[in-house]
Amino acid sequence: MSGIFGVVSGGDCAQTLFYGTDYHSHLGTEYAGLAVLGKKFHRQIHTLDQTQFKSKFYEDYRRMKGNKGIGVISDLDEQPIYLNSCFGPFCIVTNGFIENSEELTRGLLKNGISFSEVSKGAVNSTELVAKLISQGNNLIDGIEKALAKISGSCSLLLLNKDGVYAARDRFGYTPLVLGKDKTGWAVTTEASAFPNIGFKVTKYLQPGEIVLLNEDGILDKKRGGNINQICAFLWIYTGFPASSYEGINVETVRERCGRCLAQRDRDMDVDVVSGVPDSGTAHAIGYAMESGKPFRRPLVKYTPGYGRSYTPPSQEIRDLIARMKLIPIKEIIKGKRIVLCEDSIVRGTQLKSFTVKKLQDCGAKEIHVRPACPPLMFPCRFNLSTRSINELAARRAIKALEGKDIKDVTEYVNHNSEKYRKMVEWIANDLDVTTLKYQTVDDMVKAIGLPKEKLCLYCWTGKIPEREK
Ligand code: SF4
Repeated sequence: MSGIFGVVSGGDCAQTLFYGTDYHSHLGTEYAGLAVLGKKFHRQIHTLDQTQFKSKFYEDYRRMKGNKGIGVISDLDEQPIYLNSCFGPFCIVTNGFIENSEELTRGLLKNGISFSEVSKGAVNSTELVAKLISQGNNLIDGIEKALAKISGSCSLLLLNKDGVYAARDRFGYTPLVLGKDKTGWAVTTEASAFPNIGFKVTKYLQPGEIVLLNEDGILDKKRGGNINQICAFLWIYTGFPASSYEGINVETVRERCGRCLAQRDRDMDVDVVSGVPDSGTAHAIGYAMESGKPFRRPLVKYTPGYGRSYTPPSQEIRDLIARMKLIPIKEIIKGKRIVLCEDSIVRGTQLKSFTVKKLQDCGAKEIHVRPACPPLMFPCRFNLSTRSINELAARRAIKALEGKDIKDVTEYVNHNSEKYRKMVEWIANDLDVTTLKYQTVDDMVKAIGLPKEKLCLYCWTGKIPEREK
């Protein structure tokens, strides 16, 4: 995952860029970078494996001078990439995942284009985008052609003497939002970066739209299209609660998800409604509001120093963090019938070993798990998560029930089928919980509030939109 931020301001932009980029720290734990353009480019990249963004870049940003800049937090590549192209020098950051990167790289190599950066043994995908852009007739033509060639998802910010070019990927899988303060303009993945640095949202970029932010304001360079496949997971889990995508706030969607779950539990009596922090909390608040049962926190997260548990690349570290960060409160748990809202069940191992187990050890009488999204059947097409297909709890259940891995899981996706019921029963037994009831696809879509065809639901349905094929 990645988050990108860009700004053009009336004076020095480095402080705004520093804090605006830092507000994307929940989206990645591997690399971060800033580039500012004043009299010359100032660029800095650091790994984030041992230290958080703020401490790594604090001294750097204070030395950066210029009124325009771009920043990135990324799990994929070291960025920003600097390229002295035929259109002049530029720096670029990207957010997304290029499915056909090998094919595009081969094509460029054949044309005599060389690559200098390596990212995890492969070509750095941001350098690949930079080189694709440099093949155009001009910068805008280059961006348009690059995005048209890319299969998958890629939004980008490009910094040069003109200002900051912002382009959202043509199917809109990843968001980009424009904002304004007293003296300048900014663009961000997470709209939650704006309020505390004084910006107000002015526009949600359309899929495929390209704009230029400069001292004169926002100049339209290419109109956006109607095809939108924004990632539904942004609202369920990955997005920040204070963010909005397509004008729809994350926290309120999570509350609506919780309400939908509670509506399917009308006949259930419990003592406590709780959520697995952080994103499970808002789902649980919605459940509590709908059911009238008290929201309480039997598990609190020790936040200082701990990021989200799935972002570190190693499973060992993820498990260690998961074990350490949630602390149970026995006084709230003992003898209680508890609803536990969770954003999603990926592997289920952390939920079982480090969450349910803690509640059981503290004497919970009943544990009713309510994931805010349907069973995950497929890993993200764009590598927005670390899971592989065989790790998914639903796939393990299907393998156990069928005696082998199967390709066609249509019946298991249908929440009215007997196979679905058996799969959920298997996962509930594996988790060792009293009951388990997943959100349905339709309720999740209803909670988000966009038409189904404007959302990517691949993780749950395995369906790739016809128009994209
Ligand atoms: S495949 Fe899943 S995580 Fe990836 S963009 Fe689609 S919904 Fe989001």
